Amino acid sequence: MKITILGTSGSTVSRTRGTPSFLIDNDILMDCAEGTTRKILEVVGHLKELEKIIFSHVHADHIMGIVTLLWRLWLVEERKRPLEIIGPIEVEKVIEGFLKLTHTPRDAFNYEIKYTKIKGEEKIVLGEISALKVVHHIDTFAYRIDRDKSVCYCTDTIPLEKISKFAFNCDILMHEASMPESYAEWAHKYYHSTPIDAAKIATSASVKKLVLFHFMPQLEGREDLLGEEAKKHFKGEVIIPHDMMQIQI
Ligand SMILES: [Zn+2]
Ligand SMILES: [Zn+2]
Repeated sequence: MKITILGTSGSTVSRTRGTPSFLIDNDILMDCAEGTTRKILEVVGHLKELEKIIFSHVHADHIMGIVTLLWRLWLVEERKRPLEIIGPIEVEKVIEGFLKLTHTPRDAFNYEIKYTKIKGEEKIVLGEISALKVVHHIDTFAYRIDRDKSVCYCTDTIPLEKISKFAFNCDILMHEASMPESYAEWAHKYYHSTPIDAAKIATSASVKKLVLFHFMPQLEGREDLLGEEAKKHFKGEVIIPHDMMQIQI
């Protein structure tokens, strides 16, 4: 399994980091932040292998790149086969609203967009992809993908014990860590987590590696501090990624 980390900041961009998007094996995109399409082109060269886009939630920092991507599939890639978009119940309304408001000639698209809208408190299984509702301002889901290796993507949320069970034995847990522990109260108040929260979940989930991301831009240049905090509570590998980093597992 190859994971390409396209964006690692949270809420808005910093000078060196864009907002969250992760590409799994070139065919599944987790969130589609601003700038995602160009970043995929830089790494892969095209979008021909893309099959599914999965949205954690519809906050701007996770979804603003979708119009550009859909236009590229239409105008340049000349896509004919359907594209599946998975996300919370609002995902279709938001994306189709963006397309309409930006005067996209939607009827000219030669491919169908199939929306899979998920809801409910219990774990949802969609083949190799599973989803679990987390706790944020709006409907938000964590996802797990099981192939030859397994990965769990968990953002944006307060720390939740149920994620340990959901991510159990994963090769990689990618968990948000918006602010350091000294801002834990702030982080939780605004439905986010700290590196120590993520590390404790990684430990009880017995994952092999922990990737932290969704760093508030104010932390630019001090992200290693977040890794140091996490390492005190998780004995596996802790990764503080930079944008465009690839991990092969
Ligand atoms: Zn976010
Ligand atoms: Zn959010």
